Amino acid sequence: MTDIVNKEDLLRLLDRIGRMSRGLQYCHGLNPAQWDCLRFIGQANRFSRTPGALAAFLGTTKGTASQTLNALEKKGYLRRVPDPEDRRVRHIELTELGTGLLAEDPLNCLDRAIANLPAEIVETMSDGLNRLCADMQTRCGGQDLGICQTCGHFEGETDGGNMMCGLKQAELSCEDATRFCVNFLPETNTKSC
Ligand code: SF4
Repeated sequence: MTDIVNKEDLLRLLDRIGRMSRGLQYCHGLNPAQWDCLRFIGQANRFSRTPGALAAFLGTTKGTASQTLNALEKKGYLRRVPDPEDRRVRHIELTELGTGLLAEDPLNCLDRAIANLPAEIVETMSDGLNRLCADMQTRCGGQDLGICQTCGHFEGETDGGNMMCGLKQAELSCEDATRFCVNFLPETNTKSC
């Protein structure tokens, strides 16, 4: 009986935290989808800062992702810059205004609440939520995000000190290699850059 009550409590709490987090994100003239987009662009590597990658991450259509990006671009939070190697490709990046706004992310208050928790609780919650997330992803689908060091496409360091992506057959800076990628392929063996 206690087990059932605890599971119902957990479900209710997860739902409540989700709704509170969503409600917090109607601020600074943005909505939750726009905040998600801003966060994604702030954390993604250059291959992932595209409308298609954003759509995969948000689980939405490319058209909807493009509308969100356009709205943020109009507000001056994002800009599109041509790829130095291929002028047909344009990467999306944060402007200074966007970087400044991200520093005021309303979800920072969740960060502060987590920081107040004892380390052992953080560890247990993190383990449990990771399992829940993986289970939900298996059942419902969803984009796996990860970084180069644990990716099956990672081909290691180049002579020039960059890192090589086998999927894109292109180099990334070591800084970019620590950013999230939507083409991530989970792998157990880690390699260094
Ligand atoms: S190695 Fe993997 S994570 Fe890194 S850029 Fe390539 S696909 Fe993305």
